[in-house]
Amino acid sequence: MPDTATLHAAARQPAPAATSLPANAVEIEHLEKTYRAAGKAAPLKALSDVSLEIPRGCVFGLLGPNGAGKSTLINIMAGLVTKTGGAVRLWGNDIDKATRQARASIGVVPQELNIDPFFTPYEMLELQAGLYGVPPRERRTEEILSMLGLADKARAYTRTLSGGMRRRLMVAKAMVHNPPILVLDEPTAGVDIELRQQLWGRVRELNRQGTTILLTTHYLEEAEELCDTIAIINRGRVIACDPTEQLVRRLDNKELALVVSPELEAVPEALQPFEPELAAPNRLVFRYRTSDAPVGRILAATRDAGLEIQDLRTEEADLEDIFLQLTRGAHDDER
Ligand code: ADP
Ligand code: MG
Repeated sequence: MPDTATLHAAARQPAPAATSLPANAVEIEHLEKTYRAAGKAAPLKALSDVSLEIPRGCVFGLLGPNGAGKSTLINIMAGLVTKTGGAVRLWGNDIDKATRQARASIGVVPQELNIDPFFTPYEMLELQAGLYGVPPRERRTEEILSMLGLADKARAYTRTLSGGMRRRLMVAKAMVHNPPILVLDEPTAGVDIELRQQLWGRVRELNRQGTTILLTTHYLEEAEELCDTIAIINRGRVIACDPTEQLVRRLDNKELALVVSPELEAVPEALQPFEPELAAPNRLVFRYRTSDAPVGRILAATRDAGLEIQDLRTEEADLEDIFLQLTRGAHDDER
């Protein structure tokens, strides 16, 4: 535990650099993490040259499959894991040079829930506020509980709370020192869809009130629904980072499969501009952006090539497929 009284004092005294609000809530530059096992196991590179800027006020999604390095990144921000290279600034505070201010500027909801069953939510928040050195008159325990829909559970034993309530309690706990940045590591993994929607609502509300949100997830749907910007991370590398709409548009592609006769040995010249895949001697698969609307031209060119169309199928590329597609290249690389 850091020196918590100083920690809180630092949180309330804006650092000189932070007298005007930072444009970016989080800045990560060339971040590296190599885990070195004590035994014989080879070192594991969990993060490679990760650079990200998270604008103040946004909901930012870090999306990636299991093992991608999401928790490693979050835990470095939280001060739980030591980076092996690069720089991290939280609310303008470098985690190495202004550690206390940096730490005071984020609240982290870890992936694993650890809740003491013998405290009530009210007690738990008061305890956490104490750890951060928040003086009693500045505590907002009731307000935070009601913001997260837990006002009527303030004095219930936490062991009686549902999974969704516990998750919200963890968010409440991360908010006691009023951090401008809230970080949620896989907040809805293993949470059913209804509770997920509830939690999303709370997160949106916190964001409307000015909190910058960083969440990690391996659900594309979740990132798409909640986030303004999505970064995709795989095997420790950022492989995409775009405004959500742009990313989804990039993912907006369709597939047209044609069964043709006669059988082909190669793609006929008339069809080459469309770059189809000859999936089988009688099967051509075209991939295109919905917005390009080339189907009429493809069908005309197929007939011009002297082919008869025996069957036709179109398929909306589903986001999960594209996600795999985007991450596939990275899978092939060795670290
Ligand atoms: P994610 O949160 O995206 O699932 P993690 O950051 O937990 O990914 O893990 C990234 C990689 O680092 C994984 O290969 C994981 O096994 C490894 N890793 C995570 N924590 C440790 C640790 N404490 N020691 C060694 N390897 C670790
Ligand atoms: Mg994780």
